[in-house]
Formats: sequence, C-alpha cells, structure tokens
Amino acid sequence: MIPCSNPKAQYLTHKAEIDRALIDVLDQGRYILGQNVRGFESEFAAALGSAHGIGVASGTDALHLALRACGIGPGDEVIAPSHTAVATIAAIEMAGAVPVFADIDPDYYTIAPAKVEAMLGPRTKAIVAVHLYGQAADLDALQAIAKSRGLRLIEDCAQSHGALHGGRRLGSIGDLGCFSFYPTKNLGALGDGGLIVTGDAALAERCRLLREYGWAERYVSHLAGVNSRLDELQAAVLRIKLRTLDADNGRRGAVAADYDAGLKGSPLTLPKRRASGTHVFHQYVARSTSRDALIAHLKANGVEALIHYPVPVHLQKAYKGRIRGGDALPESERAAREVLSLPMYPELPAADRAKVVDAVRSFGK
Ligand SMILES: *Cc1c(COP(=O)(O)O)cnc(C)c1O
Repeated sequence: MIPCSNPKAQYLTHKAEIDRALIDVLDQGRYILGQNVRGFESEFAAALGSAHGIGVASGTDALHLALRACGIGPGDEVIAPSHTAVATIAAIEMAGAVPVFADIDPDYYTIAPAKVEAMLGPRTKAIVAVHLYGQAADLDALQAIAKSRGLRLIEDCAQSHGALHGGRRLGSIGDLGCFSFYPTKNLGALGDGGLIVTGDAALAERCRLLREYGWAERYVSHLAGVNSRLDELQAAVLRIKLRTLDADNGRRGAVAADYDAGLKGSPLTLPKRRASGTHVFHQYVARSTSRDALIAHLKANGVEALIHYPVPVHLQKAYKGRIRGGDALPESERAAREVLSLPMYPELPAADRAKVVDAVRSFGK
C-alpha cells in the first residue's frame, strides 16, 4: 500500500545525523529546555524572519498559550474555521475562551473573511487563521479586519511550515504564529512538539512564562501557567530537519506538479494555488462528488487516500449544537463530503506517483 504520509522515510534520510544527535543529548544529560531547545527556538524564528521563538509541547499547546499570552480567556470569543484539525478548536477551549465558527472559501478551504465579518461581536477578541493543507488563508483581508477591530490575529501554521505569503513566511505575519511538529507535519519530530513565534517581545515573554508554570525565576510563579515544555531530544532532531525544510517542501511541490500533470482533465477538482504566496503541500487535497467510492477504488489498487477532515468540528459529538455559527457552514460540510488527500511526502518515489495517477484515472472505467 502506498501510504498517505511516511515519517519514517524522513528519519531514514537523516538517520546517521539524527542517531548521532540523539546519543549526544543522552550523553550530555540535560533533557528538558536545554541548549538544543534554545538553539532550535532561535534558528526556527530566524528562518521565519520572526524575532522570538518559544518551544512548547505540541501545536495544540502553541495555540492555547498564544491565546493566553494575549490575555484571552473566559467570556472572550475567538473566530475560527470548523473545517480544520479539531486541535484548533480544542486549544481555544483550553484557554477558557469561546470558539465561534465562520465558513470557508471553497477554492482554498480556508476561513472566508466575509464570513468572519458576519460573526464579529462585542466579545470577539481574536481570529485564528488556519493555513490549511500548506498555503495561506486570505491573510491580507483577515489582517485588515483584525486591525480595524483591534483583534489579535493568530496563525495556525501546523500545516504550513516554510510557506510564503507576499514574500514573508507564514507565522511571522500575525501577532503570533503557532506550529506543530507532529511526526507527519512538514517539519516533524519523533514525537510531539510545538513552537510559537512572535515579533512582540512582551507576548514572547508571556509565552515563555506560561509554558513552565509561569515561573519568572525557578520555582516562583508570576503567572498561572502550565507544563508545556519541548524536550532536548525532539529539539535536536528538529534542528537537523530544519536545514532541509525548504528542500523537502520543494520535493513536495514536485510531487504535486506530477499529480497536477497526471490528473489534468480527470473529473477531480485539483488544488488551487494562491497567487500571493507558495503552497508547501502538507496535503495534496482534491475534491470529488464520488469521493467515498473513489477512496475504496484507490484502496483496492494499493493507494491509501485519507480524508482531512471527515467530520467538521461543529458536527462532532463533542461540539455539536453548542458553538455559535455552527448552523451556517455549508461549504465546510460540502468539503467534508468531497475532499480526499492523495499520498504526499517528500521521498514519495516517482513510480509510486505514477501508480497513484493511474489508480485515480482508472476509477469508473
Ligand atoms: C496538527 C494540527 C494541530 C495540532 O498540533 P498537535 O501538535 O497535534 O497538537 C493544530 N492545527 C492544525 C491545523 C493541525 O494540522
């Protein structure tokens, strides 16, 4: 079966370097918030053109602590898409805030600025722009709304490491950018990890305190924080993989170009790219009105296609009926019925790409 993602292939590419780095950490004896975390924080922030980086335990925590650093909590509303990883919404509720849903743009699957405007209210404090599948949400319009209303703009970059918008890296444009290093992401650890970038020194300082019990000095809390630390083993691995992030994203782009060429003229709706930036293809997402039959056909032909995401958050049991905006999300619901993600990872062999194309093209024949 050709897998949809393949984090082990990434490990094997860098095996000698990673193995050595892991042993160095083991020998060195400092396992939490040490020199590798500090090094990775500054290298990652610098790579994005952002001033500050704060390593945390996951992408979910990055969002949660970014919101809290902004002083957003109980009673405050945060506008976000429902067509996203459930983590986006879970993080808003972890901060004690109230998520509000706005529908997506059907071409790019990202939150639609006009729908955001319709959901604004006196309690709105922030917008979470999820850069889904590897390219930017409509950032210029979202920034304009945030600016005119005095709202925070938080970027969920868990699927868009390294992507550009108007020549700038995603994550460095809003007030804070939140990243996940879950193993299958464009920059993946060998476990969980996350990071917040921001250009604002005061927000950075609050994030830094919040991730470790609010400690300003050891054992003395100035804020009521949490435990959300990045460990040295993960940071050591991420430093190695960061060096090839752009090259790896380029290889994802080459896979996408092969799919585009091979699937041209097929009944699938292929992914559209925004002219304003780059697409780093965390997923290659197409849509089909016979999606479920197509996935079954692909499976029978040795190709794993997944659905990101099969149930929009507002229709999941844990959230259904209790979040404002959840009754008017037709494009989110249509996307959940029609999208499928084809195998996508930098090391995907050319022969396998051809097999994927052939399998899609033989559907219904
Ligand atoms: C993966 C992901 C997250 C959460 O990251 P974790 O590290 O798994 O907590 C948040 N938002 C989006 C869009 C994601 O894809």
